[in-house]
Amino acid sequence: MSDVRIDDLPVRDELRGKSPYGAPQLDVPVRLNTNENPYPLPEPLVERIAERVREAARHLNRYPDRDAVELRTGLAEYLTKTAGHPVGLENVWAANGSNEVIQQLLQTFGGPGRTAIGFEPSYSMHALIARGTGTGWISGPRRDDFSIDLAAAEEAIAEHRPDVVFVTTPNNPTGNAVPPETVLALYEAAQAAKPSMVVVDEAYVEFSHGDSLLPLLEGRPHLVVSRTMSKAFGAAGLRLGYLAAHPAVVDAVQLVRLPYHLSAITQATALAALEHTGTLLKYVEQLKAERDRLVAELRALDYEVTESDANFVQFGRFADSQAAWRRILDRGVLVRDNGVPGWLRVTAGTPAENDAFLDAVREIKKEQS
Ligand code: PMP
Repeated sequence: MSDVRIDDLPVRDELRGKSPYGAPQLDVPVRLNTNENPYPLPEPLVERIAERVREAARHLNRYPDRDAVELRTGLAEYLTKTAGHPVGLENVWAANGSNEVIQQLLQTFGGPGRTAIGFEPSYSMHALIARGTGTGWISGPRRDDFSIDLAAAEEAIAEHRPDVVFVTTPNNPTGNAVPPETVLALYEAAQAAKPSMVVVDEAYVEFSHGDSLLPLLEGRPHLVVSRTMSKAFGAAGLRLGYLAAHPAVVDAVQLVRLPYHLSAITQATALAALEHTGTLLKYVEQLKAERDRLVAELRALDYEVTESDANFVQFGRFADSQAAWRRILDRGVLVRDNGVPGWLRVTAGTPAENDAFLDAVREIKKEQS
C-alpha cells in the first residue's frame, strides 16, 4: 500500500507534482506567520457561543438553514453599520471561510475554458483555487513598490479578456491598499473587455487606514466584495467568510454551493460573534497601533518596509530571505516567507510578541553589520 504515491493515482494532470497550500504550523513561542488575531475571544463571547451552540445542538438531527438567513441578515447589518452603505440579506452570501466564497465564485464565473487574473504577488490561493476549479490563471503585473500599475493592468485585461478579475485590498502578502480609483478603472476595463466579474478581496479591510469599497457596489452588478471573520473578528478557527454583491450574484453562487454547506454550529457561533462586534473591533484598534509600531521600528532599524493597511507588515530586503526566515525562527519567532524574493512578512501580534520579533530582527541586523 505505502508504495503508492499521489502521482501513481489517476489525478488530474494539472495537480501532478504539486504540493498542498499551507504555512508551516510549528510549535514555537511566537507565531506571527498566518495573519491571525493574537487575542483569544473575550470570555463573555465564549459563554455566548456555548449558549448558542447548546441550543443548536438540540436540533442537530435536522439539516441547518440552507440559506443561513439569520446569519446573512446579521452580516448585512454589520456591513451597513461599518461601511456606510446599505446592504440587505439579498446582497450577502456566506460560506466556510472566504476561501470557500472564492471557490464558489470561480465555480460560478470561472471553470474550464475560462480564465481569472490577479496582480501578483498577491494572495496565492486565488491562483490555487482557480487551478482547483479548472480555471486558467493569468498572473498580472505589479510595480517594484508592489502597487498596481494601472496602464499595465488595463493592457493585461484587454489582451486576455479574463472572466474574473481579483483585486486584493489591502493586498496580502505586501500589505498595501489599492486606491478606489484604480479599482474603478479596473472594473471599467474588465467590463469593456468581456464583461467579467471583479472580485475585491477585503479580508483585511478592517485594519485599513481607508474605507471599504462596499459603496462601489451601487450600480455595478459585476462587482463582488469578499470578507472574512478570520482576521478582524479574531475567529480564524470558525471558518466564516462572506460576500456582498448584487442579489443576482447571490442567486448565482447558489447554483454551485453544496446543500447545507454551513453547519448549524458554524451559523450559531458566527451569530454569537456578531453580537460582540463592539468588543472584537476594539482589538482592531490595538492591532493597528501595533502594526504602525512595527513599521516605524523596522524602518528605524534600516529595514525596508512596504506601506501597510493590514494586520501584517512586509519587510526586507534580504539577499536570502529563506536564510533570514530561519535565523528569526532560531530566535523562537515564526514569520512568513511568501516566496517574494528579498522580503518576509510578519503579522502584528501582542505587544510582547512584537517585542520578541523586534529583538530577533535587531540581532540579525547587528550580525549583518
Ligand atoms: N483572502 C486573503 C487576502 C487572505 O489573506 C486570506 C487568508 N489568509 C483569505 C482570503 C482566506 O481567509 P479565510 O478562508 O480564513 O476567510
